[in-house]
Amino acid sequence: MFKGRCQSTFRTLYPEIPRIDAHTHAGADIGTICNYMRIREQLSNNHKVDLMHWINLDNRHAPIQCIDSVKSLSDGKMSFVYGNYNPESLLQEGIQSFEARVSESFGYKLWFGPVARRQSNLFHLELINDERLYPYFSYLSENGIPLIGLHIADPNGQFGDRTPWCPNPIVFWRQITAFEQLLIQHPDLLVIAAHGAWLVCQDAQLDYLRYLLSTYSNLYIDIAATFQYFNRLNRENLRDFFIQYSDRILFGTDIGFVSNSSIDEFVDRYNKCFMVLETNDVVPGSFFGNEDIQGLALPKEVLMRVYYDNAYRLLLHRTL
Ligand SMILES: [Zn+2]
Repeated sequence: MFKGRCQSTFRTLYPEIPRIDAHTHAGADIGTICNYMRIREQLSNNHKVDLMHWINLDNRHAPIQCIDSVKSLSDGKMSFVYGNYNPESLLQEGIQSFEARVSESFGYKLWFGPVARRQSNLFHLELINDERLYPYFSYLSENGIPLIGLHIADPNGQFGDRTPWCPNPIVFWRQITAFEQLLIQHPDLLVIAAHGAWLVCQDAQLDYLRYLLSTYSNLYIDIAATFQYFNRLNRENLRDFFIQYSDRILFGTDIGFVSNSSIDEFVDRYNKCFMVLETNDVVPGSFFGNEDIQGLALPKEVLMRVYYDNAYRLLLHRTL
C-alpha cells in the first residue's frame, strides 16, 4: 500500500488507452463546453491522458437544437443525448412528442430517483416499472435507441452509515426490484444504468449487481460519481467485480458545469479517478468527496474496456 503520490503530478500508467467519459452534464452551456476542452488539453499536456470524448447527458433545460452546436463547439469531442429529469413530464409530453424528439438523438437519458427528490409528482409515478411508461420504453427498444445514464434509486449505505440521499433501505429496494421488472419486460432494450444502478454502496449490493449483469445481457453500467463510495466496499470484492464484468462497465464522472476558475480542480478530480483505477495507492478523495480510497490496480485489458472499448462499441460509433 502506498500513500503519497499526488494527483496534481500523476501521469497515467497507460497513456496509450484513450478515455471516454460516458456520463457528463455540460448541456448547452458554451463556457462549460470550452472549459471541458481546456481540461482535456491539460490532461494531455501534463498527465499524458487522452480524454477523447464526452457523452453529454443534457443539463435539464438544453434545447434539442443544440446537438449540432455542441458537436461543433467541442470539435467533435462531445456527443449530446436528449435527457429527462422529471419522469412525470414524459406522461404530460405524450408518446408522439417523445418519439419526435428522441428520434433526433442517439440515445435517451432518464433520471428516475426517489419521488421525494423530484419537484413534481403530478402523476404519482413512483416506480420505473409503471405500465404507463412502457410505450416509451417499447419505442426505444423497437428503434434500437439505448437508455443511457438511467438513474435508478439513490445511494443507500449500510446500517449505522446510511447516506443522506436515500437512507431508507425499503424505498431503495423497492426501486431496485422495480428496475429488474423493467429489464424483464423489455429484454431487447439496451440499458446503461448510471452510477452502477447505485448498487455500489454495500458489499451485498455489489452481489446483487453481479446477479443483474449475469441475468440481463443488455444491461451495462457507468461508474459516474461512484468512486466516493468505494471505501465502503471490500477492495478485493470491488476489484474482482471490475475484472469479472469489465465488458459491461463504462467510465464516467458526472462532471457538470465548470467555471473558468475551476479547471485545475477538475483536472485533479479526473486524475484521482485514474489513480483509483490504475494504481495501488491510497488516493485522497475522488471525483466527489474526500475519503481516502484504496486503488484497485486494475489490469490493462480491463482498463481498456472500461475506459474506451465499451463506450465506443455501445455509444460512440452511433454518433460518428
Ligand atoms: Zn448525472
